[in-house]
Amino acid sequence: MRFSKFLVPTTKETPNDATLASHIYLIRGGFIQSVGGSGLYNFLPLGKKVLDKVHRIVKEELDNAGCQEVSLSFVTPATLWQQSGRFEKYGKELLRFKDRKENDFVLGPTHEEMMVNLVKQTVQSYKQLPLNLYQINLKFRDEIRPRFGLMRGREFLMKDGYSFHVSTEDMQREFALMEETYKKIFARLGLAFKVVEADSGAIGGSGSKEFMVLAESGEDTIVVCDACEYGANIEAATRKEKTCEAEAPEAEFARFYTPDVKTIEALSGYFRVDPYYLVKTVAKRALYDEGRSEVVLFALRGSDELQEVKACNAVDANDLADISEEELAQIGLAAGFMGPVNVPKGVRVVLDSTLKDAPSVICGANEKDYHLIGVSFAEKQAEYFDLAAVQEGDLCPCCGKPMRYTKGIEVGHIFQLGTRYSEPLGATFLDENGKIQPMIMGTYGIGVSRLLAAIIEQHHDEKGCIWTKESAPFDLQIIVSNTKDEEQRAAGEMLYEKLKAQGKEVLLDDRKERFGFKMKDYELMGVPYAIVIGKKLQEGLVEFVCREGMQSEDILIDTIADIVSQRI
Ligand code: ATP
Ligand code: MG
Repeated sequence: MRFSKFLVPTTKETPNDATLASHIYLIRGGFIQSVGGSGLYNFLPLGKKVLDKVHRIVKEELDNAGCQEVSLSFVTPATLWQQSGRFEKYGKELLRFKDRKENDFVLGPTHEEMMVNLVKQTVQSYKQLPLNLYQINLKFRDEIRPRFGLMRGREFLMKDGYSFHVSTEDMQREFALMEETYKKIFARLGLAFKVVEADSGAIGGSGSKEFMVLAESGEDTIVVCDACEYGANIEAATRKEKTCEAEAPEAEFARFYTPDVKTIEALSGYFRVDPYYLVKTVAKRALYDEGRSEVVLFALRGSDELQEVKACNAVDANDLADISEEELAQIGLAAGFMGPVNVPKGVRVVLDSTLKDAPSVICGANEKDYHLIGVSFAEKQAEYFDLAAVQEGDLCPCCGKPMRYTKGIEVGHIFQLGTRYSEPLGATFLDENGKIQPMIMGTYGIGVSRLLAAIIEQHHDEKGCIWTKESAPFDLQIIVSNTKDEEQRAAGEMLYEKLKAQGKEVLLDDRKERFGFKMKDYELMGVPYAIVIGKKLQEGLVEFVCREGMQSEDILIDTIADIVSQRI
């Protein structure tokens, strides 16, 4: 490709809404273009090249693992979503619309329903299973806060795969195969990543793993153990049971006047008791289908913080919303003095599992300025769940060593689904004994367009992108320093043809621009290597530049083609 003919609108202007390196450089480097600034992007020729590279690697590895590519309709009938029960549950991220005949449709944010429907119509017998079908296609999610460019768009490219099996064991075999396949994909892309335990929604269990690209800018907090392999999204992380060295308070049950003592800190000071022995009570409105909701008090130890995803799963809600102090007062709850006993009618209580055997704790009395002391839940009928967010320093559930937080970008998610979709949508097969069974499923996603952002988050410097070998739009860029110099120009052309003939993808910067300007573009666009043809050509030398670190060395022009084929 000749730069003079290539549509690459690089710019010095940083977009107003951009804070992340990947967002800034992908726009400034002429890879993508924002459409109306709301999570919609056009891919320009350079961006499309990278997208295709990533796409190809994903496809190659999946095909190698025996998966079959299909392409499903992006517009999907709402009836399928109604059957699966997700039409309501999916909330506002799901874009719903009607056609001219008033039929309801949605733009696919994920395609479980569609794929199950495809398989249902084509597979009847156990002899046709297992199957792993995938597509690499557009998705639309009306994200509440689209941001960070390709990282969280509203329209984005996803690889979504679905597998169908006769048994749970066979599905788990495929799940393990997909984990290995994903590892190959991300390793080929040159990414440092970690596979972590992930939230599996209300279904629960350990049947879900996320692939996290390690980067400070990641939106996900992950808990990792350096002493062993354990890693988990904070939404799903567990820990070795916590204990407290401070002495437990001993008290008979009593109602205690605690004027204006509203926080855990104040309460801890007031009673001189470690927060571990206090109860933190958080009120939330749990939102369900068809606009239903209820008020839930989540109670946990004062030394812990509520993990909202765990809390949401505990009550099987679609979402949790905050409740204002005024609203609490109307229900009969006093902010700062809430507790899980003597709750007003209609308020649901969920307790953290670690409170189950707590002998004597202190909690709000659900009355302004009062707390209860000497409370125990042992004899109470209550709902217990793990509600607490694992903290840095908490001990690893596997090996007992302290864990730490780090940040990750979720680029893949694999999930053991079971019959969550095959049952409601009626995807069944006849087993060996002629009995009808629901298919057992797994589902596997990769954020293909998000990967472009993830690669740059991990591989950039203060000048621009540094693409990894297999993601780079070109293998090599040839920069002719002064295009008015006929010798330099001719040398550039000669090398361009020679390297292309070697099978290299080459970008020849033949533009009539100043050298400094062209170098700036090179740094911004981030092709891994460059050959600069400048004044030293008179001595028979060209400069070989490595984008990472911008090191350069002089090399004889007669040998450069060989050196390139050795090193790239
Ligand atoms: P997130 O927690 O980041 O919103 P998710 O759990 O909603 O992700 P999945 O439904 O598992 O994501 O989708 C599969 C993959 O698609 C994700 O692992 C991620 O890489 C990618 N993805 C999800 N949402 C977006 C988005 N808005 N923009 C770009 N990629 C996305
Ligand atoms: Mg999401």
